[in-house]
Amino acid sequence: MAKANYIRVIIDRAIHRELDYLVPETLAERVGIGSRVRVPFREKSALATVVAVLDHSEAKGLRPVEAIVGDAPTLSEELLELARWISAYYCCPIEAVMRSLLPQVIRRAEVGWKKQLFVQPARKIDNEEVEKLRRRAPRQAELLEAISHLEAPVRAADLLRQTSLDNQTLRALVKRGLAELREEAVVRDPHADEQFIATSNLVLNPEQLFALKEVTQALDLPGSARPILLHGVTGSGKTEIYLQAIRAALERGHSAIVLVPEISLTPQTVERFKGRFAEAQDTVAVLHSHLSQGERHDEWHKIHSGRARIAIGPRSAVFAPLKNLGLIVVDEEHENTYKQEEAPRYHARDVAVVRAKIEKCVVILGSATPSLESYHNATTGKYRLATLTQRIDEKQMPLIRIVDLRRERRKEKAAAILSEKLRAAIADRLEKNEQTILFLNRRGFSTSLLCSNCGEARDCPNCSVALTFHRHVTRLSCHLCGHTAAVPKKCPACGKDSLIYAGFGTEKVESTVSHIFPKATVRRMDADSMTRKEAYRETLRSFRTGQVDILVGTQMIAKGLHFPNVTLVGIINADLSLHLPDFRAGERTFQLLTQVAGRAGRGETPGEVFVQTYTPFSPSIQFARHHDFTGYFQQELEFRERCDFPPFKHAILITVRSAHEGRAKLSAETLKRRLKEALPEEFLLGDATPAPLEKLQGQFRFHILIRGEAIMRLSRLVRETLDKLPFPEDVTVTVDVDPYQLL
Ligand code: ADP
Ligand code: ZN
Repeated sequence: MAKANYIRVIIDRAIHRELDYLVPETLAERVGIGSRVRVPFREKSALATVVAVLDHSEAKGLRPVEAIVGDAPTLSEELLELARWISAYYCCPIEAVMRSLLPQVIRRAEVGWKKQLFVQPARKIDNEEVEKLRRRAPRQAELLEAISHLEAPVRAADLLRQTSLDNQTLRALVKRGLAELREEAVVRDPHADEQFIATSNLVLNPEQLFALKEVTQALDLPGSARPILLHGVTGSGKTEIYLQAIRAALERGHSAIVLVPEISLTPQTVERFKGRFAEAQDTVAVLHSHLSQGERHDEWHKIHSGRARIAIGPRSAVFAPLKNLGLIVVDEEHENTYKQEEAPRYHARDVAVVRAKIEKCVVILGSATPSLESYHNATTGKYRLATLTQRIDEKQMPLIRIVDLRRERRKEKAAAILSEKLRAAIADRLEKNEQTILFLNRRGFSTSLLCSNCGEARDCPNCSVALTFHRHVTRLSCHLCGHTAAVPKKCPACGKDSLIYAGFGTEKVESTVSHIFPKATVRRMDADSMTRKEAYRETLRSFRTGQVDILVGTQMIAKGLHFPNVTLVGIINADLSLHLPDFRAGERTFQLLTQVAGRAGRGETPGEVFVQTYTPFSPSIQFARHHDFTGYFQQELEFRERCDFPPFKHAILITVRSAHEGRAKLSAETLKRRLKEALPEEFLLGDATPAPLEKLQGQFRFHILIRGEAIMRLSRLVRETLDKLPFPEDVTVTVDVDPYQLL
């Protein structure tokens, strides 16, 4: 490390400015770019990250650094460069980016290694000594005997448990100078007690071989490779390609990152990666959001020190501090969970592509239903395209049948949850001992409580949505802000005894299905039934082992799961996501239908899918039915081009909100006027309008949507305009570049 005279830092707190500090002689050797330091700031001290080491500084009255936090620099220069790109692109202060880049335990350095006491004999101890002690202190003698046989130090706690002796006895031996205690750091490994069966590379089919060759060629040409889009139908063996691509990267001395959507980071996924790279316990680091602070600390250091060479995790794993990065895999690249919905509002897939460019490494984006953006990039030649058109072993794609709910309704009058056809299909599977998945993207029992007399619905007092009735807790709850309320007996508005429950969610599906098929074992999997993390594993296990016949769930069960005995999938209502005021609604529906359908027929028997819908002829449903991705892509692309939406134009969504409706509106309108002055004609500036979700958590919300091609320039102009405009104290403005939430 070069000797430092001055350093430039970014303070953790939001001040939008970099500051210089003097480095005392004693610290000069230990500080470098990416180091964490404690510096005096105003009247207090603050934590900061070093972004440059300088020979001289123009600033006056510099104060010295107080201390260095941690041993080695925490951030590489490449990651700092990435942070600056995120800040500029996503129109977000660099301090906020730093907060995402480094986990809190590492930034604050408050949690350290877990220390444990190990015991060993203080010197050689013979039998005679033990016997002598036995007369005076029999329990100490017993422990001493055990210790005298130790070949290596063992955990004191383990030894005491095995011998059923207590700490006091051990302390007495230490005091007599017979035993010795030593503190050692131990790694908190959440997977330490699991056994992973080692697997080796499978023999690839020709399509897979071709795809893998794209990757290995790219690995051999560092720096010049384009991102590779791996478009492979569900069950076509994409994961096997990731595994072999990672192996190829490791063989070339590189490390790798695997990004998976949070909900598909299942025990099954972890097992596949840990199993393939089982040569050392440490090779694969798993970055769950469920990790304790201590576990997160240890996994981070395992990666940073180079012991782990593969990091697997959800979106923030794109910042894993691996050295010599050779490959980034983004599985299910179309998933919306890669987009962070708080500042910095980055999209991990796009950040992965940029990181790959900075680190000169290869990036694979994989999906059965690529996003329109990525597929467009592949057709224009910005990305390379590798395609897997067949399921492994020529397994058939599931047969998709559309059930027109309008006709069902005519037959039954009331809206049926299960159409006759779906009902018959379930009965058939129960008979054959095969399993069924029923999918509905809505939790709860009834989705609203209405008065049939006065028409009043029970709305959330904080948000402009109806409250959902949850039967198992007998309460109404808001799915946006979490507000809950008791269920009224009479209509609070008119006092009449005329409340009716309308709409239904997974809870009602579960109870209806159990009622129709009393002999079947039905389980529900959604955010309400899976509040404990073990509940998730338990349910999956009992489904896999065949104890459960029918699994009802939300998107939690839509993805990544692999159950050979599932031959039937029912989509209870395909229209739910189709009619949202969002230009991606059609794309999302197509993706969801394809993904859910992909859960069927992954074993020997071909799968069958029933899609219940009131709009059977909508393109998303028809193209999904025929497994026609390119057909869907072309027609959706035309729509996007006609309407100036991504991938043809970038979008920036500005949300202005306040508990005071008038102030939010006025601020939004003022901002719109200023933007009109600041932005050149080429950018399409929308009006300040009430958001589709007008009120959320007690705040009134207004939107301004801007579209344009030169996104870096647009981001900068938006930032400059915002910085010049003073907003009232109770008005909050957020900027979302490439937004995914338009509500
Ligand atoms: P995807 O990720 O595209 O959904 P997977 O990689 O999970 O597909 O593959 C589906 C199944 O096929 C898995 O059980 C996997 O082990 C198996 N598989 C993948 N590639 C091969 C191959 N070349 N030969 C035999 N089985 C394979
Ligand atoms: Zn609410």
